[in-house]
Amino acid sequence: MSRVAYVNGRYVSHHQASVHIDDRGYQFADGVYEVMAVLGGQPVDEESHLDRLERSLSELHMQSAMARPPLRAVLREVIRRNRVRDGILYLQMTRGVARRDHPFPAKAVTSLVVTARPATLPPPETLRAGVHVITLPDIRWKRCDIKTISLLPNVLAKQQAREAGAFEAWLVDEDGFVTEGSATNAWIVTKTGVLVTRDAGQSILGGVTRLGVLQAARDEGITLEERPFHLKEAKDAAEAFLTSTTSFLLPVLKIDDTVIGGGKPGKLTDRLFHRYLKKLSTNKKRSTNKNEKKAAISTSNPV
Ligand code: PMP
Repeated sequence: MSRVAYVNGRYVSHHQASVHIDDRGYQFADGVYEVMAVLGGQPVDEESHLDRLERSLSELHMQSAMARPPLRAVLREVIRRNRVRDGILYLQMTRGVARRDHPFPAKAVTSLVVTARPATLPPPETLRAGVHVITLPDIRWKRCDIKTISLLPNVLAKQQAREAGAFEAWLVDEDGFVTEGSATNAWIVTKTGVLVTRDAGQSILGGVTRLGVLQAARDEGITLEERPFHLKEAKDAAEAFLTSTTSFLLPVLKIDDTVIGGGKPGKLTDRLFHRYLKKLSTNKKRSTNKNEKKAAISTSNPV
C-alpha cells in the first residue's frame, strides 16, 4: 500500500511529497515538530502533544498552521489514509517559504507536514534485555524545552552512541549533571528507592511520556524527586531507565562502563512499565470500542 503525506493542504503520495527549497525549515531549521504514538488507530496523549506544540510555536513567535479542531482532523485523516493501527504520527510546522534572510518574513505562512507509518512498541525482549547508554557533553543550546527541528547535536550524539554499540547517549551539563538523552528523558532510582528525573526547565524537553510516567509513579505511591542528578549519582543508582514516545520505557543496564542494578532491569522500573502499559492499553481499548461503535452505527445506518 502506498503511503500518503499531508503537505500544506494536500494529501499527496509520500514519495512525491516535498517542500520548497526556500522553506525556512530547510534553510534555518526554523520549525517545530511532534511525534505521537498511534494505538488502535488513535493518537496517544494527543492533547498533551498539541499543548506542547502550541507552547513551542509560541516560544518561537510562530503562528500555528491551523486551529486545533481541523488539525486533529488532519491527523486522523493521515492515520486513516495510511491504514495505521499501531504506529507513529509525525507533524512538523515551519515558518514557511520566504527569500533566504535571517529575520522573520513579513508575511510568514506556516508550513505543515504530517506523516504516519505503522510501528510496534519495543517488544518485551527489549524490555527484558534493557539497553546501554554512553555519556557525552551536552553541547545543545539553552532552550531544550522547545521541540525544534534543529536537532544536529542530538543527531551527532545518537550517532556516537550507535558507533559505540549503545542505544542512547545521556547528555551531561557543565557541572556534571545529566540533562537527558539525545531523544529520550533520563531517570534513575536511588538505592533508597527514590525515583529521580530532571525537573522540566529549559535544559530538557518536557517529554509527554515523562508526564505519563510521573503520573504512573504517583499512582503507584513511589517517592519522586524532580531535580538534576549528577552522573556519579546515576552510576551509583539501583536502577536507571529512559523514556520517549517511540522507546516507551526502557531499562538502562549500563552507563558507560558501569553496570547498573547488577545488569538486570529493576523492580521499580518493571512496576512503572506495567502501570504505564496498562494506561496505554486502556487508551487502545477505549479507541477500539469507539471505532467499533462507529462501525456499528455506520452499518446499521447506511447512507
Ligand atoms: N528529550 C528529547 C531531546 C527528545 O527528542 C524526546 C523525544 N522527542 C524526548 C526527550 C521524549 O519526549 P516524548 O516522551 O514526548 O517523546
